[in-house]
Amino acid sequence: MLRFHNTLSGRLEPFTPLHPPRVNMYSCGPTVHDYAHIGNFRTFVFMDILQRTLRARGYDLQYIMNITDIDDKTIAKSAAAGVSLADYTEKYTAAFFEDFDTLRIQRPDVICKATEHIPEMTRLVQILLDRGLAYVSDGSVYFKIAAFPEYGKLSKKDFDGLRSGARVDVDEYDKENARDFVLWKGKKEGEPHWETTFGDGRPGWHLECSAMSMAYGGQTLDIHCGGADLVFPHHENEIAQSEGATGETFVRFWLHSEYLIVNGEKMSKSTGNFYTLRDLTDKGHNPVAIRYLLMSTHYRKQLNFTEEGVRQAQAALDRIHEFVDNLGRRKLPAGDHRDMTDLCDAAARRFDEALDDDLNTAAAQAALFDFIRDVNRRLDAGEVGETDRARVMAFIGKMDAVFDILPAADDAAAEADADIAALVKQREEARRTKNWAEADRIRDELAARGVILKDTPEGTVWKKN
Ligand code: AMP
Ligand code: ZN
Repeated sequence: MLRFHNTLSGRLEPFTPLHPPRVNMYSCGPTVHDYAHIGNFRTFVFMDILQRTLRARGYDLQYIMNITDIDDKTIAKSAAAGVSLADYTEKYTAAFFEDFDTLRIQRPDVICKATEHIPEMTRLVQILLDRGLAYVSDGSVYFKIAAFPEYGKLSKKDFDGLRSGARVDVDEYDKENARDFVLWKGKKEGEPHWETTFGDGRPGWHLECSAMSMAYGGQTLDIHCGGADLVFPHHENEIAQSEGATGETFVRFWLHSEYLIVNGEKMSKSTGNFYTLRDLTDKGHNPVAIRYLLMSTHYRKQLNFTEEGVRQAQAALDRIHEFVDNLGRRKLPAGDHRDMTDLCDAAARRFDEALDDDLNTAAAQAALFDFIRDVNRRLDAGEVGETDRARVMAFIGKMDAVFDILPAADDAAAEADADIAALVKQREEARRTKNWAEADRIRDELAARGVILKDTPEGTVWKKN
């Protein structure tokens, strides 16, 4: 049974959706003011493992993710660049999803942009005003935290001393600045704005997520996730806005992933200690190795990023690929071995149990490596039969449905073709130097792989049988 650490209760809890098998899950998406860094992608890879695990367990998942395409940062940066907000954010939204695909993160079922959901947001503000949980001041609308006694229940902070009616206007702030936060910002020169009955202006960041998550996932979501930095104030404010408006539990399971750090400090744009995915692929690192590295530590533990870590992840990937490759090519005797059936069953069980345990990807990776070692030993001892091969591959397929680290079918075919072409070249070279034995050996090897050679005056051509 799946168990998740719920930030709200501070405990590990068995996961049960409100209306099984349906699961509504919302994650805070990127603020598209710049290229995302791989710290951001640690969080999105975690969410990918979460969504794939839920689907593998048979849940009917609706995964919703927003794009914050209007907030303090996007407005300020587009203005500084002299570009319209829409054009500016479009560029970084496209870049974000390119990186998403490169990292093999499955796209959410619903991707919603803040600027396309203004009516949902203004409706929510109106309800909060009607219920006495919000007030207008200097043309902006604020949430009155003193009117919501449960404020602080997610971040477990005590805000008693702060409930003075003082206000905070910026989207991002710390605990020391916790005040009545802005829901709707009054119109300012040079900022986009929308007309409403409570004043023209634009949404604050926190409002966006409450309005969009409930628009698609309903009043009560099964899961809401994000990075640990979003617990306060963002998610605390989302709870206040949503529960304040509906009177219902907003989210049943809150999941937060820990930071990717560099030399003990959170990777972030503001400190400048970051790598984008492009920085790393330009240096020749394989994005799948980066994916593997990002899932190599349990999501609630900090992960220290180094390029050496990427190289180690690549070495681990190479071992896995070699294992699968070797197993596919090997000539095996007919039949199966009882011991191999047990081994495959045990590996599948261990893999599932690791993910059941609050998505312990590190333990799941360990299960995979122990399995590879055990099967290799049996291969060497001649104790793996043709029927066992299918069982081993079934486990590998099950693992890859969640990890997604094996070469894609197209990649695998291209790799195999490149391999064949290289052997054909070697054989031509052997023939040129009259090394007939070597040329014949290569021809036989290719024949065993179903490749037919034809020597022509223009060189050797090959085709698959
Ligand atoms: P942003 O685009 O800044 O809103 O961030 C997108 C996601 O990345 C959020 O869920 C953040 O909590 C998360 N995030 C930001 N920095 C890091 C980091 N260093 N490690 C892990 N997650 C992060
Ligand atoms: Zn959010």
